[in-house]
Formats: sequence, C-alpha cells, structure tokens
Amino acid sequence: MADNERVVLVTGASRGIGRACVAALAGPQTKIYVNDVANLDQAAQTCELATAKGADAEVLPFDVAVPSAVNAAVEAVIKSSGRLDVLVNNAGIARDNLIARLKDEDWDQVLAVNLKGAFNCLKAACRPMMKQRSGRIINISSVVAYMGNPGQSNYAAAKAGLVGLTKAAARELASRQITVNAVAPGFIETEMTANLPEKVRAEMLAQIPLARFGTPEDVAAVVAFLASPAAAYITGEVIHINGGLIMA
Ligand code: NAP
Repeated sequence: MADNERVVLVTGASRGIGRACVAALAGPQTKIYVNDVANLDQAAQTCELATAKGADAEVLPFDVAVPSAVNAAVEAVIKSSGRLDVLVNNAGIARDNLIARLKDEDWDQVLAVNLKGAFNCLKAACRPMMKQRSGRIINISSVVAYMGNPGQSNYAAAKAGLVGLTKAAARELASRQITVNAVAPGFIETEMTANLPEKVRAEMLAQIPLARFGTPEDVAAVVAFLASPAAAYITGEVIHINGGLIMA
C-alpha cells in the first residue's frame, strides 16, 4: 500500500446510503472495505462503483452486531492495509411497530444492530486510529432521534443513543486527533423507506420545506465532507440532512 493511501470502512454498504457513501469516498489512493452481511453480490456491485472511480475496493462480510466478527474484520483490515482512516457506521435495520405490540426481540435486534453495532465497530476501529493518532468516525443517526415517530420507538431510541455515543467518543478520542461526528438524515429514498404507504409518504412530503425526499447522495456528500481535510476541526457534531423537516 502506498504511504498516502486512505483506508476506509463503510458498514452496511450493499445498497442505499452505504453504497452512496462508498461512491462518494472512492477515488485514487483510496482502499475501501465494503461491509455487508447477507447480500454479498450487491456488495460486490458497490465495489465496482468504487473501482470505476479509481479506488481499490473489497467486500468485507461481517455482522456488526457480533463483536468477535467485527474485531476479526478490523484486524484483517489492519493486517492487510496497515491502517484505518475512516469508519462510516451506516449498517441499520428497522422493525417498526407500536409500543403496545412491539416484540422484545424486535426491540433487542434494532438496538443490537443500530446502536451496539456502531459501538462494536467504533471500539475495534479506535484502537488502530489511536496508534496512528488520526482517524474519522461518522455515525449515521436519523431525524427520528430528534422528532420521534410513532411505531419507531426502538429505532428512534437506537438513533438517539448514537448521538450520545458520538459526543462521548468525540470527547474521549479528540486528544488523539480522531474526530467523531454523526449525520441525521430525514426521509431518504432507499429500500428502507420504499414500502411506506402512499398516504404516509404524502403526509411526510407535505412537512418538508424543500418539497422532496432526500437521496442517498445527499447524505453521502456530507459524510464525504466529514471525512475530508476540510472537516478537521469538527467533532462531536450532528449534521442534519432533512430538507428542513426539522431545524434543530
Ligand atoms: P438499507 O437500504 O436497508 O441498507 C441497510 C444496509 O445495512 C444494507 O447493506 C444491509 O445489509 C446492512 N445491514 C443490516 N444489518 C446489518 C448487520 N447486522 N451487519 C452489517 N450490515 C448490516 O438502508 P438505508 O436506508 O440505506 O439506511 C442506511 C442507514 O441510514 C441506516 O443506519 C439507517 O437507519 C439510516 N437512515 C436511513 C434513512 C432513510 O430514510 N432511508 C433515514 C435516516 C437514517 P444486507 O444487504 O445484508 O441486508
């Protein structure tokens, strides 16, 4: 690996926002690890987008909710690439239901992937970053962490937890020149939101001042900024990307 190569890991990058982040972070002198757990063919397609932009890309399958798998994957990255510069904690799931009907396993699974999964990756990644005395960690939260949403108590709690995790980690890691930030997307057009009933979509759209849903690229552009030298003096922040839905 060249001395000036940047090494990036994006979790949950088989599609949607994760895939767009890979495309936005890709370029010459970049090694990108594309994580996914179930759809490895799609993750390979994400790699092709990155290689078309001059990056070296590789699928890195692991489940973010399993600490031993995360540790093994990050160790493999360090063994092969020698460093890790950027971690994007994007992997996420939704298991929506009203609280009275929400199954314990759906609460546990959403917290395990969306919050503990990010912690697992952050913990594994911060060790080599501390040794390097540099690093960028970007967590993908959500507007529902700030405004709530009926039927999403588990998801909103996990995404609000990510904000606290971001700020605590930012304070812990700042002395090693590692920045930790979050983005909080609003309604973004991906598979996660594709099955919402038309009535719900119309109601949401009516509340968005910019009068459109977001794209994965809208989110990825901000993630790429937070990973860039231009964002060197930003840490512990949450950047809202929601078309004005809330103005926090
Ligand atoms: P998506 O299209 O459903 O993609 C989710 C990705 O996460 C997939 O690649 C999926 O992999 C992966 N994943 C799920 N569980 C995983 C695990 N245990 N380990 C590793 N990877 C796992 O979702 P998206 O809309 O792009 O959302 C990406 C992130 O943005 C999520 O954190 C989501 O909560 C957040 N977000 C989305 C919106 C929105 O409106 N779409 C708004 C705010 C925040 P598989 O292919 O294996 O399933």
